[in-house]
Amino acid sequence: MKKKMVIDVITIFPKMVEEIVKKSILKRAQQKNIVQINIHDLRDFALDKHSIVDDYSYGGGAGMVLKPEPIFRAVERIIGKKKRKRKRRIILLSPQGQTFNQAKAKELSREEHLLFICGHYEGVDERVKENLITDEVSIGDYVLTGGELPAMVVIDSVVRILPGVLNKKESFENDSFYQGLLDYPHYTRPRRFRRKSVPVLLLSGNHARIRKWRRQKALKNTLDKRPDLLEKIILSAEDRKILDELKGKKGKKGIAPICFPECK
Ligand code: SAH
Repeated sequence: MKKKMVIDVITIFPKMVEEIVKKSILKRAQQKNIVQINIHDLRDFALDKHSIVDDYSYGGGAGMVLKPEPIFRAVERIIGKKKRKRKRRIILLSPQGQTFNQAKAKELSREEHLLFICGHYEGVDERVKENLITDEVSIGDYVLTGGELPAMVVIDSVVRILPGVLNKKESFENDSFYQGLLDYPHYTRPRRFRRKSVPVLLLSGNHARIRKWRRQKALKNTLDKRPDLLEKIILSAEDRKILDELKGKKGKKGIAPICFPECK
């Protein structure tokens, strides 16, 4: 069995992070002892009595920079002296990093220990990047105020795919990106709402046909919204046939809805 994953977060706003990890799936994963999440206040590792963790940028210009010493001290305290004891990643959240995606979430979910460093203001002293981290991760090409929200994004997506976290009903295999496609559409009760009905096939109990319908819809969603994803995955002959049909229909008058006899 996989060892419990340990996640440490170093931040100057521990309360922001604490609130999020106390809720929903992250809470449950901790209760089930699948993951342990520790939050560390960077100010506790400051060297002076005023707990100063930031300073001006050498060379001038507006904006403060997180000092290196408290970050090094925090990381060293967390990982102990023997640096290579566990399979570990030390991740700096940064808009300059590798863009995060589901593949990276899967990769990180195989580790035993993830340590996140949240920057703030102008960011962190470059010596942290040069000497301390194993990964620099961005959640997209835009700039946020701090690394707390990005850390939460990464942690949430990693923890939900750890074995045993989601129960069968909530399984993630069909989620968007997990197998390269977008998800198929979902419907729930009531069957009829404001004169709009759920596709009848979904009520038929015919699991083989439902599986096929869902695959078609996942392919259609992906073709409509993210055709770039189709370039990156290996498709079966049947998938390719469905796509060719969809593309044919698209050519004529937008994408026509796929319809089984049951839907009519
Ligand atoms: N001056 C920096 C931005 C600093 S933003 C630059 O232009 O590169 C302050 C902090 O917010 C960063 O240190 C980082 O931890 C976090 N942050 C901002 N945008 C982010 C993003 N897209 N992904 C991950 N972290 C981000």
